[in-house]
Amino acid sequence: MAALPLLRSYALDRWFEAAGPAPEVFSAVTGAPIARISSAGLDVAAMAAHARRVGGPALRRLTFHDRAALLKKLALHLSEHKAALYALSTDTGATKTDSWIDIDGGIGTLFAYASKGRRELPASTFLLDGPAEGLSKHGTFVGRHVLTSLKGVAVHINAFNFPVWGLLEKLGPALLAGVPVIAKPASATAPLAEALARLIAESGILPPGAFQFVAGSVADLLGHLTGQDVVSFTGSAATAATLQRQPKIAEASVRFVAERDSLNASILGPDALPGTPEFDLFVKGVVAEMTVKAGQKCTAIRRALVPESLVEPVGTAIAERLAKVRIGHPALETTRMGALAGLAQRRDVLAQVEKLKAEADVICGGGDVVVDGADAEKGAFLAPILLRARDPATARLVHEVEAFGPVSTLIGYRDLAEAADLVHRGEGSLVASLVTHDADFARDFVLEVAASHGRILVLDRDCAKESTGHGSPLPQLVHGGPGRAGGGEEMGGIRGVHHHMQRAALQGSPAMLTAIGGSWIKGAPEIIGEIHPFRLAYGELELGRTFRSKPRVVTLEDIEHFAHFTGDTFYAHMDEEAVKGHPFFPGRVAHGYLLLSFAAGLFVEPARGPVLANYGLDDLRFLKPVQPGEAIEVRLTVKSKNPRNADYGEVRWDVEITSAGETCATYDLLTMNAHVA
Ligand code: NAP
Repeated sequence: MAALPLLRSYALDRWFEAAGPAPEVFSAVTGAPIARISSAGLDVAAMAAHARRVGGPALRRLTFHDRAALLKKLALHLSEHKAALYALSTDTGATKTDSWIDIDGGIGTLFAYASKGRRELPASTFLLDGPAEGLSKHGTFVGRHVLTSLKGVAVHINAFNFPVWGLLEKLGPALLAGVPVIAKPASATAPLAEALARLIAESGILPPGAFQFVAGSVADLLGHLTGQDVVSFTGSAATAATLQRQPKIAEASVRFVAERDSLNASILGPDALPGTPEFDLFVKGVVAEMTVKAGQKCTAIRRALVPESLVEPVGTAIAERLAKVRIGHPALETTRMGALAGLAQRRDVLAQVEKLKAEADVICGGGDVVVDGADAEKGAFLAPILLRARDPATARLVHEVEAFGPVSTLIGYRDLAEAADLVHRGEGSLVASLVTHDADFARDFVLEVAASHGRILVLDRDCAKESTGHGSPLPQLVHGGPGRAGGGEEMGGIRGVHHHMQRAALQGSPAMLTAIGGSWIKGAPEIIGEIHPFRLAYGELELGRTFRSKPRVVTLEDIEHFAHFTGDTFYAHMDEEAVKGHPFFPGRVAHGYLLLSFAAGLFVEPARGPVLANYGLDDLRFLKPVQPGEAIEVRLTVKSKNPRNADYGEVRWDVEITSAGETCATYDLLTMNAHVA
C-alpha cells in the first residue's frame, strides 16, 4: 500500500516536511485515511520573524492599488487552477454546491477585495480617516487621523468547514492592508487547504514572506507575537478562549479577532401564514441551512422561531421537505446533502443533540440514514434532525448548545417581545433572518435585536429571488457578531482592511499635516502663480496650488433669469412677500446652483487644456445665503491627487465661495487631468 502523503508547511518561502510520527487525516466519505499531518520541528518563531522582516516591508512598499493588482492576479490564477481544489473537496464531505460556496466563494471574495482596493482606496500606502479637525481659534493648530499598516504578521487560524473560503476571506483584507500572513487551517480538512497553499505559494505572485502556511499545530507561535500582530481565529468558543488566555495575547495587547460558534435564529413573522410566499421562504431557508454543507456553517439556522400557532404547520412543512433531501456520496449529481467532515464530527453532533433532547422533542431525522453511493456507516452521514422545544419560556439549552451539523430547533413565540427575548438568549449571534412582509413588525423587531447581531436579513417576496440567503457572509458586509459569536468582525468591505491598520491622531500645523497626509488643509500655504492651474499638467499641480477669482455681483436679474431658464422658481428666489419671516433667508436669495454655476464661470479657464472633465462634487454645503447685490468670490485649491492611469489622474480641489469674507458654500470638485499640459 502506498504511503499516505504528508501535508507540508510553507515557511520562510520554502516547503517544510515534518519528521517523525504524524496523525492521519480521514476522508469524510469513506472514513479511510487520506493524508498525514504534522508540523513537528517547524520553527514558528522564525516564520513570524520572516514575515515581519521580509514580507511586511515588501508589501508596505506597494500602494493599495499595487496590492489590489496582486490580489486580482492571484484570484485569476486560482480560478484557472480551481479544478485541483474541487477534486479534493469531495473528501471533506462537500457536494458540488458546497464546494462552489467554499472554492468559488473564496476566490470571489479575493476578486471583491481586489476591486474594492482599486476603486475605494488611494494609490498610496496609508489612509486618511475623516476630515481635518480644527483645534484652535486662529486655525494654526489642527488634527487629523491616519491609518498605517501594522508592522507585524496576521496569524489566521481557520475552522474545518470552509477550508478555501476561510483562508481567502482572511488573506485578502490582510494583504490589501500590507500585512503578511501565516495561515493555519483546521487539520480535518487540511489536504484541501494545503493544495490551496501550494497554488498560492507556487504562483510566485506574492512577494517573499507575504504568505506562509502551517500544516498541523502552530505550536508556540502565539507566544512570539507582539502588539503589531493580529490573530484572526475562526472556530469553537472553547478553542478561542484557550488561545485568548495565552499570556502573550494580553501582555502585548495582540489584536485578537474571534469568529466563534453562534446559535443563529430565523424568525417567521406573524403575518406569514401558510399559503403566503414568506411562509414558504422560511421553510425553504431552514431546510437549506440545515442541509447545505451538512449544516456545518457558523451562520446556519440553529433556532427557528415561529408564532406559537404556526409551530405545527411549520414543523410539518420542514419535515416534508427534509424527507425529500437525498443524502449521498458528495460527488453524485443527485446528492443534495453530503457527509459531515468526519466521524468525530458526527459523534460530536449526536452528543450535542442528546443534550438538546432534555428540552426538545425530535420531529424528524437522526435515525437510520439512506445514503446513495457510499457506505452509511463508514462515511460521516447523518439524516437532518429537526427538534421542537417543549417549553419555550423556560428552555435554556436550545439557546446554548451548538450541534454543528444538520440540526435545528423549532421554538414557538407569543409576541414580538417574547421573540426578541428568545433571540437575545443566544447571547450574541453572527446572523438572524426575519421572514415577514410586515414593515412595521420588521422595523420594531430589527431595532430590538440588532445590538446582539453582526448581520440581519429581512426576507420577503420582494427580495427573495435575488437574496443571497441567511447563511452567506459577503465581502461587502460585516461578518462577525458580539458576545458568544466572538465579538469579532471580518470583511465588511474596506472595514476589513482597517482591522490590520493602526489609527493614529496627528496634531500640528495645517502645513505640517498637509505635508504628512498628502491632503491640503485650509490654513496651509496657498501657491498662487502666474499660470492658471487649469493650464498645468497633472504632475505640475502641487498641493496648495490655488486660484482666487475676481468678485462677481449677483443681481436680481441674474436670479430671475436663472429661475426661468431652469424652471426653479422656488418662492425663496422669487417672492419677497412669501419669504418674510423665513428662518434662514432674510429676503429673496440666489439659488445655490446659481452660485455653483457662477463659481465655475469665475474659476474656469476655457481653452482646451489638461483638464479633461469635471466629474463631480463631494461634500457640498451651502452655509450662508447670498442676496441680490452681494458680490461672491471663489478660491480653488488643489487638495489631493490620485493617479489613475498613464494618461490622466484625478485632482480633488478644495473650493470655497465667499461673500464679504464670509463663507457661502464649500465643496470638493473632482476633475480628471491629463499628464500632458
Ligand atoms: P476548533 O476545534 O475550535 O478549531 C478551530 C481551529 O483552531 C483549527 O484550525 C484548530 O486546529 C485550531 N486549534 C485548536 N486548538 C488549538 C490550539 N491550542 N492552538 C492553536 N490552534 C488551535 O473548531 P472547528 O471544529 O475547526 O470548527 C467548528 C467550530 O467553528 C464551530 O463551533 C463553528 O460554529 C465555528 N465556526 C465559526 C465561524 C465564524 O465565522 N464565526 C466559522 C466557521 C466555524 P486543528 O484542527 O489542527 O486542531
